[in-house]
Amino acid sequence: MDAGLVAAADVCQVASARFAPAVCPRLVVKIGSSLLVDAGGNVRRDWLASVAADVAVRRRTGQAVVIVTSGAIALGARRLGLAKGGRASLDDAQAAAATGQIVLAAAYAELLGKHGLQAAQILLTLDDLDDRRRYLNVAATLDRLLALGAVPVVNENDSVATQEIRFGDNDRLSARVAPAAQAGGVILLSDVAGLYTADPRRDASARLLADVPSIDAAVEAMAGGTTGVGTGGMAAKVAAAKLAVAAGIPLAIADGRGDHPLAAFAATGIGTVFAATVGAPARKAWLAGRAVVAGQIIVDAGAATALAEGRSLLAAGVTAVEGGFVRGDLVAVVGPAGPIARGLIAYDAAEAGLIAGHRNDAQAALLGYAPRAALIHRDQMVLL
Ligand code: GLU
Repeated sequence: MDAGLVAAADVCQVASARFAPAVCPRLVVKIGSSLLVDAGGNVRRDWLASVAADVAVRRRTGQAVVIVTSGAIALGARRLGLAKGGRASLDDAQAAAATGQIVLAAAYAELLGKHGLQAAQILLTLDDLDDRRRYLNVAATLDRLLALGAVPVVNENDSVATQEIRFGDNDRLSARVAPAAQAGGVILLSDVAGLYTADPRRDASARLLADVPSIDAAVEAMAGGTTGVGTGGMAAKVAAAKLAVAAGIPLAIADGRGDHPLAAFAATGIGTVFAATVGAPARKAWLAGRAVVAGQIIVDAGAATALAEGRSLLAAGVTAVEGGFVRGDLVAVVGPAGPIARGLIAYDAAEAGLIAGHRNDAQAALLGYAPRAALIHRDQMVLL
């Protein structure tokens, strides 16, 4: 029997458990164009309503869900009468996206709203997540939305993205959004059941791989080629899996074709699960390993203790600010006994100096605007 099918039932049970609220308080769910848009260029409302119902169930069990959705270009192309599904040129795709996104957003707002869930739209380009300043902004917005019980609905900002600043496909976007959302898992809902050893439409011996412990050349070879109306295809899904697992986040490809696909995946675990790389997430490793810091934040013993307990760095415990850093730079945090942490700072050096030693309730008057929750958020910090 193929290694991927050995004790498939057991593997699948583990697989779906990995995406359960207890181990995965925040989940990213990607919905592809081929699931969402019918042949006539309209939203498949009944199906999307069943996804919204699944999301509502997840929220009631304590799991926050971020939706990454495609479909804007497919929906807009139909409304503008564009050929090739709106993908004949970048201009066409951008016009189609602008037209379709508003339809897409309305569908989510309405169908999530029926369950008392507030949809919140975020449109991103690649450099929004590559730029550390904007990455922090996105992370903070997602955090706030999820804390408020809203359901972020994310898509690529196709109408403004040029080739150089495109994610290109929403599989990759999902994998990049997951760390920013502090998600514990990503589920790519797909029009296939998962990754097969060969193309199941052409090769009768093709088998579904339940579990991929590591992504090697053989796995990538299995994913060759693209399918469907989205830009994704299996190669893009495996590329997304590589990004997610390197950030310490498991990713599943699950069959999205039937109604209630999230409930179905939770019940059966059928799909392909790419195991997360064990150890510190790549991002934290990167923070710890980068040699150059742009400045130092000197903190008192109380702040040092709070950091050791896993809390964020608040300005109140800061005794000095050194260096000419800007918001989003990597800085060192130094306590009475020496360096204790590194992290991405939420303020420019001058502002950090202004609020150093001051409690949050005194900061607005010093800054002239409402302060951020912390000088360095714990999610953006690694202890040394
Ligand atoms: N962002 C595109 C859209 O909404 C889809 C990209 C993809 O197919 O992955 O139409």
